[in-house]
Amino acid sequence: MDIERHEYDVVVIGAGGAGLRAAIEARQQGKRTAIVCKSLFGKAHTVMAEGGAAAAMGNVNPADNWMVHFRDTMRGGKFLNNWRMAELHAKEAADRVWELEAWGALFDRTKDGKISQRNFGGHEYPRLAHVGDRTGLELIRTLQQRVVALQQEDQELHGDAEAYIKVFAECTITRLLKQGPEPEAPISGAFGYWRETGRLVCFDAPAVVLATGGIGKSYTVTSNSWEYTGDGHALALLAGAKLINMEFIQFHPTGMVWPPSVRGILVTESVRGDRGVLRNSEGKRFMFDYIPEVFKDKYATSEEEADRWYDDQAGNRRPPELLPRDEVARAINSEVKAGRGSPHGGVFLSVVGRLSPAEIVRRLPSMHHQFKELADVDITKEAMEVGPTCHYIMGGVEVDADTGASSVPGLFAAGEVSGGMHGSNRLGGNSLSDLLVFGRRAGAGAAAYLDGLAARPVISAETLQDAEQEAVAPLSRAGGENPYEVHHELQRTMNELVGIIRKAEEMREALEAVGKLKERAAGTGAPGGRIYNPGWHLALDLRNMLLVSECVARAALLREESRGGHTRDDYPAMSAEWRRKLLRCALTPGGEVAIEEAVQPSMRDDLIALFDRAELSKYVTADELADYDALVK
Ligand code: FAD
Repeated sequence: MDIERHEYDVVVIGAGGAGLRAAIEARQQGKRTAIVCKSLFGKAHTVMAEGGAAAAMGNVNPADNWMVHFRDTMRGGKFLNNWRMAELHAKEAADRVWELEAWGALFDRTKDGKISQRNFGGHEYPRLAHVGDRTGLELIRTLQQRVVALQQEDQELHGDAEAYIKVFAECTITRLLKQGPEPEAPISGAFGYWRETGRLVCFDAPAVVLATGGIGKSYTVTSNSWEYTGDGHALALLAGAKLINMEFIQFHPTGMVWPPSVRGILVTESVRGDRGVLRNSEGKRFMFDYIPEVFKDKYATSEEEADRWYDDQAGNRRPPELLPRDEVARAINSEVKAGRGSPHGGVFLSVVGRLSPAEIVRRLPSMHHQFKELADVDITKEAMEVGPTCHYIMGGVEVDADTGASSVPGLFAAGEVSGGMHGSNRLGGNSLSDLLVFGRRAGAGAAAYLDGLAARPVISAETLQDAEQEAVAPLSRAGGENPYEVHHELQRTMNELVGIIRKAEEMREALEAVGKLKERAAGTGAPGGRIYNPGWHLALDLRNMLLVSECVARAALLREESRGGHTRDDYPAMSAEWRRKLLRCALTPGGEVAIEEAVQPSMRDDLIALFDRAELSKYVTADELADYDALVK
């Protein structure tokens, strides 16, 4: 069969914030770089990000600095985070935001002209650099503009704008290619197809950066759009890399619940950061009843104190609506289950009377538009109905914090597809800054890897043939089962059995169901040929969603505690013993998901000394506390 071939130094899979930042870095370091994305260029999840990018710039509250941001991030992740990643992120996020400004981003300003920063859950100080509630759009616009600027430079230097950086949009990667089958064999390229024509394409490249985002499309109710099918997670596993923290899924507390066609679409946390309050059907501001023990001293216990905090943060504690997302999502879930929900199975979120109508439209333009257009609700006059929605996966490819390198030589990962940075729960705003910090590092990591490479790994004819056969298989099963049926069943299974509150017997049921769905997926077919055939595309995506779902369910069943984005009905408490443990997923040579326990390395002394003993004692083991005591003595 006719396969289009391209040769690059670095192939970046994904054109969201992480992919673009990685590609810019690789190109700036002189590497010939391809950006491949399955959606249109500019249409990634990053563009949907609303609230902002968290960076301790101290523009609104000068008390903020990287150490406070580091502490907040570790606290939000319930101390399971890869502390080195959290450290690099907290230290470098501000530089990455300033860099964006230098490249042309127009952030909202404070009265004295600095980049404005807003409040968000779990962040001690106003920290999110933002552009209204359309921050992701500005981030992507700026990074794309930077790509174009580099292309203009290449036009002048080499007479070819695409000599060093080229975008392959609407092109889906289905397999990573390697020099051999062993996990330690180096990457030699990536294989995929053009969505429009169905033509197959092979990229020869010794370094690949995965930046494919998350997995939300394995759930029925999700804020994620069609391209979040866990492709990068599955591609990494199939190439021999490891995934960690897969049991931790963030259910954002506020998705739309009505009408059914828009269920799951995100209602930004900025609504709560900008004075929005949550109430149940009895009109009660219920979050005061859900402040967990570990956060008791940091959150207001009365409405008066909570409301005063917006104007005087030094003298008051934060409103409990701004607890980390896992806490708020569980609280909403409990209110609905107790029969105190809104008419369509959510709770009420309102800014009415808390900001003037003009201020609501100015600060939350997208939310105003979204509710008016989709639900016929005017948020300047009425409350929104909201409930939890599958939003973000904390788990992903296990990478080296400094370089983004996975355990497979030549394979790097950054952004939502990578794991570790956010521990068991991500703070809002920490993703956009994560993309910039670790996108840049992965691009640099790939460039450094190339510099140390003696020879380019090669793609054998057999490897290419296997990838080709796998990609076209659903087309030869035109009479096979409809892939949409299998997808719906998977989404229902994950939503109902491995959702926000988990039980052992339900997860076992889910695993059994996923096993059967895998068999059915192998028989799905796609009539209609190669030209723009979404059934074919979905049949291929199913392999990825099923693999990733299995990792989520297996890891969730093994972790017998509740922490962050993993809540067990049968093990409701957080366990100090489990904090040290990472569950690492890999594939056996037979292609089965296997999970091993790994121990999280101890935090460096200067970092652990940033916490006080009373706080640490809520999370760590007695041995770790003894080490801390010895350190600070
Ligand atoms: P993405 O931006 O999703 O990009 C993934 C890219 O990979 C896409 O280009 C896609 O086409 C491509 N791709 C996927 N699979 C393949 C394949 N097989 N072959 C080729 N290409 C592929 N975070 C914050 O910090 N602040 C916020 O305010 C915020 N708001 C959010 C609002 C919404 C509605 C959502 C959904 C998320 C929000 N987040 C926010 C989270 C954040 O936006 C995402 O975590 C982040 O944008 C992920 O970026 P990424 O670069 O990793 O992936």
